[in-house]
Parts: sequence; structure tokens; C-alpha cells
Amino acid sequence: MFRSKFVGALTGLSLLAGCGEGEGGFPVPGEAVGQGLSWEVFRAQVYQEPDTGIFIVDGDVPVLSEALLREFYEDHVRSGRLTVHQVGGLDAKWSDTQKRDLTYCVSTTFGSRYDRVVQAMASAAATWEAASDVKFRHVSTEDARCDALNDDVVFDVNPVNAGGAYFARAFFPSHARAVRNLLFDNSAFGGLGPWTLEGVTRHELGHVLGFRHEHTRTQASGCFEDNNWRALTTYDRASVMHYPHCNGTQMGDLVLTQRDIDGARALYGFVYVTETLSGSTWEPGIVHYSPFSVAPGSTFDVEMTGTGDPDLYVRFGAPPTMDAWDCRPYEYSANERCTLVVPAGVNTAYVMIPGYGGDPSFHLNIRYVPLTGFITGPRWAQWSTYVAQGTYRDFGTYDVKPGTQFRVDMRGLGAETDDPDLYVRFGAPPTFDTYDCRPYVVGPHETCDLTVPAGQSKAYVMVHGYSGAMIDVDIDYTAP
Ligand SMILES: [Zn+2]
Repeated sequence: MFRSKFVGALTGLSLLAGCGEGEGGFPVPGEAVGQGLSWEVFRAQVYQEPDTGIFIVDGDVPVLSEALLREFYEDHVRSGRLTVHQVGGLDAKWSDTQKRDLTYCVSTTFGSRYDRVVQAMASAAATWEAASDVKFRHVSTEDARCDALNDDVVFDVNPVNAGGAYFARAFFPSHARAVRNLLFDNSAFGGLGPWTLEGVTRHELGHVLGFRHEHTRTQASGCFEDNNWRALTTYDRASVMHYPHCNGTQMGDLVLTQRDIDGARALYGFVYVTETLSGSTWEPGIVHYSPFSVAPGSTFDVEMTGTGDPDLYVRFGAPPTMDAWDCRPYEYSANERCTLVVPAGVNTAYVMIPGYGGDPSFHLNIRYVPLTGFITGPRWAQWSTYVAQGTYRDFGTYDVKPGTQFRVDMRGLGAETDDPDLYVRFGAPPTFDTYDCRPYVVGPHETCDLTVPAGQSKAYVMVHGYSGAMIDVDIDYTAP
């Protein structure tokens, strides 16, 4: 990530000069330096890390030796062109084995800042892990000997005193172990403007995964570096890898955009999550499950088991109907499966289960790639069914998030004198005597609108037929 003072790096025009806080509090290039610098002038202005001797160009990219810096100068500075780091460009990536176990240590020499760094690393790593099929692992047993010589980790995380020359600097997958260091300057622990340490770390871990500065894609950014990259997505001015002061548009903290996520997936593949849903239905009951946010090109796989003969319907882009679906196995049992590739341009998938005869129950294992990498609300389920007098009916179990709303609306579809009773409970199925909500009003329309209590992760819905009733039950909630 960029430094607060030394900035323009080798943008050819602005270089290693002092800079102040720009508009919006971003560090921005200050002094402009012309092209065609002599080697001596260039060499004198490049920041060199006192501990490692490594030179830093383009803000936070290491050049390992004076010989390589001279090459860099010959290729890109003397001619007035700009670049950085030609070692492999985007094709410098971790192998399929390496990418799932990117181990690191966090040096105990961070002292009182150690916990803060551990936390920022975990947070930033989790974001990239949700985006694509990579896995970082903090090996805390190596923290006491966490230096560039430690071969028991892929990289080390250390403090550095760069005097504000940069907030942090990282490396690319092609670098040798000795320079696979993620270094945080004192300046990274305060005065970052709109950024957080987590945001800066997200940017640096982007480099660790092989991603270049997004602003090198166009001369118009004013921060072009070189052409040694391969595009993974269309140009993204809001990318976490795009300096805001290089004509970027991400003005808050540094966060991954959808195109950052798509690009990470293009390089490292999808990471799948599994959700489970269960319930029972019965003819003429129908259960709809809410839009699952899905990534185009990934697989949406729904496997149903259970008893009786529920039927599975899956459709992209809109809820299925009895006449419109993308998959309907239509077997004579509860064992059905839909495995589909999400089409281009589609971001939602819907599931419907009509009961057919008897009293079927179902259990769904849904394996898919959430568009953003995270399962997030809002979600809904809708049941349309008949509850017979004297029966208790299960309307499903839901994974919920404390502090969010869990709302159930029951609406009668028949006579206003029908009298079904709604029950909702967190943590366990409701009974006649135990519940968190039971409106218990006369008539078929009831609502429970609850805040999910701390410590609760499941909500259960039940309806008792005080009298028989045809009802719709809509459940709106936020997935964790
Ligand atoms: Zn950077």
C-alpha cells in the first residue's frame, strides 16, 4: 500500500516525493519529477528498506537488488516509461496445492500491536478466502522466530521502520522466500484517512495472491506501471488494488469489489458453501425458498432426501412454477437432485418443493457459490398449504443471525372464521406451551416480528390448526 510521503513511485512523472494529505484524506503524490532521470538521481530517490536492503517502487512493490533496480531503471525510467516488477506478472500465481495453505507467521516483535496485526491478517485473509479458493493459515508457533529465514512458513509478517515511506509492502508469488515478507510501517497504525489496517491488509494480500495494481491498466490513471499483466476482468476503477489518487473511485476503506471477487475466481477458482434446509409439506402444499445469490459459471447443486414424494424444482432468475423450471427430476421418491451450471448474466436461483400425496418430509443440501462469497440476507421462504384441525405443522427451521429481524406473516386464504395459530421459537421447536411468539388471535391472520436474540442461530416455525385453514406463511429473515 502506498506510503504517505514517498508516493508517485515510478509513475515517471511523479516520484518519491513528499506528499501531504489529499482531498478526502488520501495520501497523494506531491512533488512531480520529470522523465529521463539520471541513474544517480533515480537511485538516490528510490526508497530502500534499511533492514532488508530491498528497494520499493510503485508504492509498495519490492525490487530485490541494486542490479535489478538498475534493470528497472534502464527499461522503464530512463525511457520515461514506467513499470514495476516484471517477474511473471499475473501468471505469477500459487499452485493448486500452495493456494490452499498459504502459511504465515506474525512476529512477536510487533509487541503491543501484535494482536491488532493478527486480527487484521485474519480479517483480510477471510475476505479473500470467501472470494476464491485460497486459504491462508497463521502458524502462531512460528511467531517467536518469524523472520525472512524461517522456511516453515510461506511468508512472514513483520514490523518495519520505513519512516512513513509506505504503510505496508508485500510481494508476489514468484518471489523467493527471503523477500516474501509482509511489512507494516509504524504509519499503518494510525492516520490512514478513510482506510483501516484491515483495508490496507486486504490490498497487500491481493499482491500476495499475485494481483497487480489495477491502475496500471490505463495511462489515464496517471499511475501506469507497465504492461506485464493479463486481464482477469474488465477495468475496475473501484478495485481494492486501485490507488484512489490514481483516478480511482473507491473513496472509503479498501474493500473487494465484485470484479475483484470475479478476478480472484478467474485465477484461483470458486469456493463452495453448503446450506441445509428442511421441513415437511403435503398436498396441496408448496414451499418456496428465497433467492440464493449465485455466481455465474459456478455449479448450483441441490440434493433432496426425505420421505414420501416431495418434488424438487429449481429455476434461475425467477421462482419456479409448476410449468416453468430449469430442473425438475420428478422421481417417485424424495431422492432427487438438480445439478446445474449458473448461466452467464444470472445472479439468483430459486427452489420450490410441492408436496405430492401423503405427508412428505424433505431435507435439502444446497451446494453453491454465493455471488459475493458470503451467504447473506435478505432471504425468504413462502409456504402455501392447508393445516387440518387439531394438527401441528412444521414450517421449517432457519439459520438466522442475532440482532436481525425474523418476521413471519400468516395469511388465511379461505374463510375469515378459520383459526390457525402461529408459533415461533428460537433454539428449539415450539410446543403448545413453549414459544417466543404466539399471537393467538381469533381469525386466520397473524404476524410474529422478532429480533433474533444474542446467541441464537436457529428459528423454528409451527402452525396449529385450531380449525382447519388454507394459509400462506411468509418468512423473511437475514441469513447469517
Ligand atoms: Zn500495492
